[in-house]
Amino acid sequence: MTLIESFTLMLALVYIASQLFWGGHQYGALVATSTLVAAVAVSMSPMLLLGLLLASLSLMALKFAKPELFVSEIRINPLRYWLQHLLALSILLTAIHYTVYHLLLAHYGDTGVMLRPNVLDAFLPIAGGIELRAITQFGYFDIQHPAAVVMLAAVLLTGLLCKRAFCGWACPLGLAGEYLYKLRTRLIPGEYNPPAWLDWPLRMIKYLLLAFLLYVVIGMPAQMLPHYLGGEYHKVADLKMATFFTSPGTITLICFAVILLLAAWRKQAFCRYLCPYGAALGLLSLASPLKIRRNPQECVKVAKGTPCSKCTRACPAGIKVDELTTVHSDECQACLRCVAACPRKEALALGLANGKRLSHRGLAITLLIILFALPMLAYLLGYWESQTPEAMRLYLMQHLDKIGI
Ligand code: SF4
Ligand code: SF4
Repeated sequence: MTLIESFTLMLALVYIASQLFWGGHQYGALVATSTLVAAVAVSMSPMLLLGLLLASLSLMALKFAKPELFVSEIRINPLRYWLQHLLALSILLTAIHYTVYHLLLAHYGDTGVMLRPNVLDAFLPIAGGIELRAITQFGYFDIQHPAAVVMLAAVLLTGLLCKRAFCGWACPLGLAGEYLYKLRTRLIPGEYNPPAWLDWPLRMIKYLLLAFLLYVVIGMPAQMLPHYLGGEYHKVADLKMATFFTSPGTITLICFAVILLLAAWRKQAFCRYLCPYGAALGLLSLASPLKIRRNPQECVKVAKGTPCSKCTRACPAGIKVDELTTVHSDECQACLRCVAACPRKEALALGLANGKRLSHRGLAITLLIILFALPMLAYLLGYWESQTPEAMRLYLMQHLDKIGI
């Protein structure tokens, strides 16, 4: 595991322990800290130990600079803002590390100076899907990109348990879209949302893209799975994906331009219209027991007869929260902006049908546990690092153009 991966992993896990502590769950914090220290000890990985030390120091520095993130009454929007930005920064640094690693490999061969950041295999959803199928159908565990299936499983699990909180709280693409939208509204003020008759078919595009990806994964004949997973294309699937961005063709450039324009055009347009991950999470979120629930007796619209629709106005997905008692929409990203905007604490919350609520802190902790504890466990079980030999990776890199499926 690279230093950036170890640092991010440890930062998230130490932050979970600190949030449990500040949330009043001292025993939970103790259990989390003990588990974390035990995991580092069992792994005997100097990189994880270094990551743990750096993460602890960084969180102390963050506590000094941003004390509002470490109080029992932490607010919703700053918590989400910091999580989104820290995760995006981590992905950016990892992408830089990945680039330098391949430049070093291409120019100097296997120097052993840098490790490959396996977490970027999270950007191989098709490979992850095929690996998941091979595991469930044949008990065949891929060794070229094990992190792909671990991260796919983690992200899908967040959909089942936390709705689309991955989109609202963790996805760096969603965050980039938010900035593009803000930039556009500064330059060209105004909302240009499509009418409902156009919005609905546009939303279906992401489901069509998801159907296509599923067709690729499920449509592959069973006897082809081991052949594909042992083949050259799969070994360099990450490099093929990287080439897609570093040497884009005309059609790719047009697609990028459309995506950027869409993201600038309306809030969450990429998540809403195009992202197949968002589609998968949207479908899974329908089964999630957690929903945004409004208590009409507490809502000032009913309780005081006062007009109020702050929740609806705050919702980036355009959901009419003030007219619903339960938000079932597949577009709800559990971002909790509606809850943050609501003037009555008892009126609106994320919770279960039996009335039990999950606080924003609880949601953030659950999300981080799924996204980071699962990779940690996979790492401890020896199912995280790619087993492709560096010499083979270099050879395949040099013949990348000739490698096809
Ligand atoms: S309903 Fe609330 S939690 Fe869901 S997307 Fe809208 S603002 Fe976010
Ligand atoms: S913001 Fe709160 S009080 Fe206002 S309409 Fe929404 S749920 Fe009711």
